[in-house]
Amino acid sequence: MTELGHLLVADALLEHLRWSDRRRSSLYLGGIAPDAYRVTIGVDYREVHFRSARHPGQRLTDFLRTYLRPALAGGDAEAEAFFAGWLSHICTDYVWRQHLRAGLPELWQMVVTAPRLEAVALKHQFYDECDWVDIQLHRLDGAHMEEMRCVLSEAEVRFTIPPLQCSDIYRWRQQVADEMLPPSNYTVDAPQLLTVEFVQQALTQAVEETLGMLAWESKMARSGGEVS
Ligand SMILES: [Zn+2]
Repeated sequence: MTELGHLLVADALLEHLRWSDRRRSSLYLGGIAPDAYRVTIGVDYREVHFRSARHPGQRLTDFLRTYLRPALAGGDAEAEAFFAGWLSHICTDYVWRQHLRAGLPELWQMVVTAPRLEAVALKHQFYDECDWVDIQLHRLDGAHMEEMRCVLSEAEVRFTIPPLQCSDIYRWRQQVADEMLPPSNYTVDAPQLLTVEFVQQALTQAVEETLGMLAWESKMARSGGEVS
């Protein structure tokens, strides 16, 4: 999912949870932080998206146990918002993959099976169209997105998950605010794969998924890990 998509999910969460505005910047930062691996050398996507089933420290349960639950139990509203944002990022990427697999099976199939060059071209087209959707979303509510950009570019980075460092998240936050809200390199005129509605459906589903997990994890945090 694009960073704009991640921020829209974070935004919807803030509203659903009726959190105070004070948590907004931490929630936004957590919502984009996992992709900060892109501005590092040597931090792997899987490590910070907790996608590995096999490597301890990189599984979703590790994230929940080590970061989210303590934050939910700890009473620091900003920590809670930051790690809830991180969770929303993981959920959103997951939902987006499922949504693509179900809604655009040909694309999925071609990326997996096509000869390398065709697959690369198709991926480029796909990412271009993701940018196109971002631009449409920005047109729908530009003033609000300007506000999001302001909050993000002034947000103070207090938390991270190693091996990402706070300075990585600072750099990433700057790049997102400067170049991705919305993306500036506009190339698509008539998208063939994506529609705005298709992406919006995924975002709505991602919000629901995150809210469901947060409710469960809050319950776990309150009961100290034992849920009867
Ligand atoms: Zn990601």
